Amino acid sequence: MDFTKIKELDAKNYMNIFARNHVCFSHGEGCKLYDTYGNEYTDFFGGIATSCLGHNYPPLVNAIAEQAKKLIHISNLFYNEPQAKLGEALLSGTIFDRIFIGNSGAEANEAAIKLVRKYFYAAGKKKYKIVTALDSFHGRTLATLTATGQDKYSKPYAPLPQGFLHVPFNDFEALKTAINADDEIAAVMLECIQGESGVRPVDYEYLINAYALCKSKGLLLMLDEVQTGMGRTGKMFGFEHFGIQPDIITLAKGLGGGVPIGACLARNEIADAFKPGDHGTTFGGGPLACAAALVVVNELKNTDLLARVEKSGKYLSDRLMKLRKFKFVKDVRGMGLLQAIELSDKLKNAEVAGKMLSKGFIINAAGNNTLRFSPPYTITKAEIDAMAEALSELFAATNI
Ligand SMILES: *Cc1c(COP(=O)(O)O)cnc(C)c1O
Repeated sequence: MDFTKIKELDAKNYMNIFARNHVCFSHGEGCKLYDTYGNEYTDFFGGIATSCLGHNYPPLVNAIAEQAKKLIHISNLFYNEPQAKLGEALLSGTIFDRIFIGNSGAEANEAAIKLVRKYFYAAGKKKYKIVTALDSFHGRTLATLTATGQDKYSKPYAPLPQGFLHVPFNDFEALKTAINADDEIAAVMLECIQGESGVRPVDYEYLINAYALCKSKGLLLMLDEVQTGMGRTGKMFGFEHFGIQPDIITLAKGLGGGVPIGACLARNEIADAFKPGDHGTTFGGGPLACAAALVVVNELKNTDLLARVEKSGKYLSDRLMKLRKFKFVKDVRGMGLLQAIELSDKLKNAEVAGKMLSKGFIINAAGNNTLRFSPPYTITKAEIDAMAEALSELFAATNI
């Protein structure tokens, strides 16, 4: 089908919620994507930090194909082997004992929110409120968009679920004040890096202090690692950089290497609050998605991928730092292979991302006028160099 026809069908049939780029990809190989005209692109986007193993990665493709031939879906009313293996592989060596598997980041966070509420409910305590940060992003279901600290996502959908409070990110005094003022607070939910709103890492001291405060007050610390988990920062989970032990974490984006899957992980004492019937899912934990995620987990555990993320992340960061010589580059920041450039108001990120796309590099225009870089973990030095050169040329030619 030709591209004009594809666009025509999209415009005619689909709810108009995506500001799409005018490119239709047909296939990919490693960190390269190809459009329907045969043009090649280097992928610094990874399907929103998702395709962590790159495209057409043989072990992943083979596992999916082999599983599809055996079984695709059987529901959670029966056991399945890939699910059993994935739970063991994901939890072993971690501080967590129990896992729930859903299909997306929002669902993983919904499960986490319900678990927090059930935990305190079962304990007979009137604690149900969750404190989150301004500029956070936790998903688009009603509860998770309410948890999300950005009015633009929630305003039109009132009335919103109750029990969410927002405080400024990286401001410990504000967090402490909010917690001390309200006995109904049950948990604090944070991201190690606020990805969607512009790759803003949590301050080390802030997260350590938030953790200590939660401990001393008997509150739960939930970390939304949907974007920062599964090796994105150079460690399996982002929180490992901080030497803390969160009570609940959620995963999704990189977990399936592009196949939809999300997970909520917790320790026994908390997870035990969920009894049969308290939560559920039709598709979650199906053999196909679990077989895919099992490959991701095993590749991260058994190969040098995490070390590569750290090394390539450092290299990408160094290359981006050099662009600070342009006066409209306000900041360069990130961890591992989640990096960003913040631009001054004079230069629009979407415009830069659009021009880079036409030069064959996929980078993402994220919140607060940033360019987000979240390539597959297999990105090479040469690919980073080529992208940084192209971006530098583009900046040099920008007349402001
Ligand atoms: C993407 C994202 C979500 C939502 O994930 P979906 O799979 O789109 O529901 C939640 N939290 C964070 C931190 C994310 O980056």
